[in-house]
Amino acid sequence: MREPTLLCVPSVAKSTDQMAADMRLARSNGADLVEIRLDHLQSFDPQRDLRFLLKDPPLPTLVTYRPKWEGGEYEGDDEPRFEALCLAMELGADYVDVELKVADKFFASISNKKPEKCKIIVSSHNYQFTPSLEDLGNLVARIQATGADIVKIATTAVDISDVARMFQIIVHCQVPIIGLVMKERGLICRLLCSKFGGYLTFGTLESGKESAPGQPSISDLLNVYNIRQIGPDTKVFGIIGKPVGHSKGPILHNAAFRSVGFNAVYVPLLVDNLADFFNVYSSPDFAGFSCTIPHKEAALKICDEVDPIAKSIGAVNTIIRRPSDGKLIGYNTDYVGAISAIEDGIKVSSHNAVKDGTGSPLAGKLFVVIGAGGAGKALAYGAKQKGAKVVIANRTVDRARELARWVGGDALSLSELENFHPEEGMILANTTSIGMHPKVDESPIPKQALRFYSVVFDAVYNPRMTKLLLEAEESGAVVVSGLEMFIRQAMRQFELFTGLPAPEQLMREIMTKNA
Ligand code: NAP
Repeated sequence: MREPTLLCVPSVAKSTDQMAADMRLARSNGADLVEIRLDHLQSFDPQRDLRFLLKDPPLPTLVTYRPKWEGGEYEGDDEPRFEALCLAMELGADYVDVELKVADKFFASISNKKPEKCKIIVSSHNYQFTPSLEDLGNLVARIQATGADIVKIATTAVDISDVARMFQIIVHCQVPIIGLVMKERGLICRLLCSKFGGYLTFGTLESGKESAPGQPSISDLLNVYNIRQIGPDTKVFGIIGKPVGHSKGPILHNAAFRSVGFNAVYVPLLVDNLADFFNVYSSPDFAGFSCTIPHKEAALKICDEVDPIAKSIGAVNTIIRRPSDGKLIGYNTDYVGAISAIEDGIKVSSHNAVKDGTGSPLAGKLFVVIGAGGAGKALAYGAKQKGAKVVIANRTVDRARELARWVGGDALSLSELENFHPEEGMILANTTSIGMHPKVDESPIPKQALRFYSVVFDAVYNPRMTKLLLEAEESGAVVVSGLEMFIRQAMRQFELFTGLPAPEQLMREIMTKNA
């Protein structure tokens, strides 16, 4: 049974005063230890500065004095470097880090002087790529052979599948190991360290204070990813996309999992090639996925079975690995999220005069969809299913025509929208990214044309009230925000992920706070 993974805050401060302040902050932020990066200090007097830093530190300390040739800042000879590390050990450092290339020399220089309490980490960094499993295994053996107390291997992710090799190495290593894969594509290595048994993972005090590329903040590790709760049995869920850094999914789903005591974590998965991803992450531990741009259509082909609605729409935004046989099952929750939100908007606009129970309030309505991409398809298909008359307007008119033909509707160019008002009380749904942050002063349709609509929906949810929605409200329409669609599609995903009812109130509160 391995010890729980430790949380280490690196301090790359330029002065010892700032480092001492970082140490105090690391402790109050919940870290288990702090890494003192001596090579980042602007001026360094070993006797004076190490005595200052290591006298009653608020947390256990790891002292690192990284040379330039291994990715650090130190440019001098090894001898004074080793002397400083030796002094750090004498003064009570809990760990010192020394590079594999010089480990034998370092061990020879300290002979038997290592204090009992201090553990020596022997590290190897690869800033270009992640070697093969065999080469990683050989590297572990070489590091172990130096007499290291702890093995550290840091490599670079060229693709997210590289991380799987590091997970294998960590799981099978017989000695304590720190295995990290750097850069954004390696993030899950840092987030899932405690699932696979890594000795420690690094979390920064704030962005800009990283000691290596791709480190998350300690606050995110603790408060978003609930890292202290992650263990070998924790199921992994995540959002597959490119990019994914902006996604609110981790904030939302992790809090929702935690609120119902579901042993799972939801992580961002920056995926370049969907097929490669699923080939490598094929274990039942990787249990379910949200899927966003640009993978929603490819996801349809990857799945072993696809829900008929997702198949009809031609896009999958949710994938579940069925526990009974490991097959990948695809769904589309965008559809139900958007359509149910718009149906509720229509009920508000008609003061609940819509017949309840049977039939949809969309039935018989003229439903104008702007955009013919993934979201446009889901909305057009959904509205048609509910009995609406569908019209598609799109920048590329051919795509509008194609979608209109497919769902059974009409097509327009964007410019024709301005004077399009065959009837009053139409429904409008924007499914393009027009009006999305940072271009918040754009709208897909002139304000004067909005008076013909009774309900206006915008798939954009950043900002929550887009220019389109503000102008629609001023024109007297009931508005439905993309945030409502986002919350509802996420609630349905939660139900597919967990088999439990979604904690609606909590999910709403989180999205309102973080929108
Ligand atoms: P997509 O498949 O890439 O489709 C984008 C659509 O927007 C296309 O029809 C494209 O027209 C049009 N478009 C893009 N930029 C435009 C511009 N500057 N002027 C005019 N038309 C433009 O993307 P998607 O997956 O459908 O997503 C579209 C939007 O919906 C995004 O903002 C996304 O964030 C949002 N969304 C929200 C939710 C939610 O839960 N609220 C869920 C899914 C998507 P062309 O055909 O001419 O290229």
